[in-house]
Amino acid sequence: MTIREIITIPDPRLKQVSAPVETVDDDLRALMDDMLETMYAAPGIGLAAIQVGVPKRVIVMDLAPEGGTPEPLYFVNPVIEPTSEEHAFYQEGCLSIPDVYEDVERAAECRISYLDYNGDAQTLECTGLLATCAQHEMDHLEGVLFIDHLSRLKRTMAVKKVAKLKRAAENA
Ligand code: ZN
Repeated sequence: MTIREIITIPDPRLKQVSAPVETVDDDLRALMDDMLETMYAAPGIGLAAIQVGVPKRVIVMDLAPEGGTPEPLYFVNPVIEPTSEEHAFYQEGCLSIPDVYEDVERAAECRISYLDYNGDAQTLECTGLLATCAQHEMDHLEGVLFIDHLSRLKRTMAVKKVAKLKRAAENA
């Protein structure tokens, strides 16, 4: 397993729509293993393949409490549908938008249908943080970022903040 580089805004690849996976094979499992290791190292709770520059419809997540037993989830070709009319606000962050945290309104509950690590069809009912995380990661597959759900002012501030952090890191 290899830790891969996580791309950050304004990398244009983050705006790309990812393509469906044709088969869940060892190559894809190797990608998912790398993604999981990259996510744990960051650390983060969710990662889409495009965030390591691979435009495939693949997501990994792990919402287990820090220090607990890992509970990795792998989603290939996921399809999501809201299962509640209720909405919820959660403060979100993104490994591709470092140090920016803002409240985003999303469906409170959703159902995600996908192929798992072995290529078997699964369905998962999501509530709470899992529902938020699933919708955030699904957005990545469509080239949408959580800051796209914010007001223009907040989005502009977020983009500027990341640019400033990058400049500071380059000059350090
Ligand atoms: Zn993200």
